[in-house]
Amino acid sequence: MITVLRLGHRPARDKRVTTHVALAARVFGADAVLVSTRDPALERTVRSVVRRFGGSFRIETGVPWRQTLREWHGPKVHLTMYGLPIDDLLSRIPRDDLLIVIGAEKVPRDVYDLVDFNVAVGNEPHSEVAALAVFLDRLMGGRSLRSESTARIRIRPNPRGKSVEGSGH
Ligand code: SAM
Repeated sequence: MITVLRLGHRPARDKRVTTHVALAARVFGADAVLVSTRDPALERTVRSVVRRFGGSFRIETGVPWRQTLREWHGPKVHLTMYGLPIDDLLSRIPRDDLLIVIGAEKVPRDVYDLVDFNVAVGNEPHSEVAALAVFLDRLMGGRSLRSESTARIRIRPNPRGKSVEGSGH
């Protein structure tokens, strides 16, 4: 079970990025995303994709993040450019009930102490979506992209156009 905790979501400003965080989390093997700020529109968007493309990925918004972090029983990882290199830490990170924390704007200082591992996907700034995708892909050894789809809509790989089977309704 892998859960992503998204901190600092500002509904007006971060709508697209947090949607992408959730969709990337789902495709790259996470089971759920928890978002610190309540955002029903974001929940609807993500649940609609899950309905059409399958699986049991969950989204919850308005989550008290500090309490979640303090009370989490499994291992906790914070993705940050200030952390230790992913290649040095990966083999030490347990997979069971893993919580992965990502930020939006400046992440509060105590987060660095509330987690077990501060992991850098390179020590330069880029994006929470990129950091999450690379981290999950490495953690899963690339397996998540090879898993069989349970989607109502199925996209057939096509060298040039779009081949879609099924119906999303
Ligand atoms: N300036 C913010 C800070 O000091 O915390 C970070 C902003 S960044 C756009 C948003 C999030 O992307 C970060 O909180 C972190 O989770 C993730 N991120 C960005 N670059 C990263 C990197 N090189 N390694 C790991 N995570 C990264």
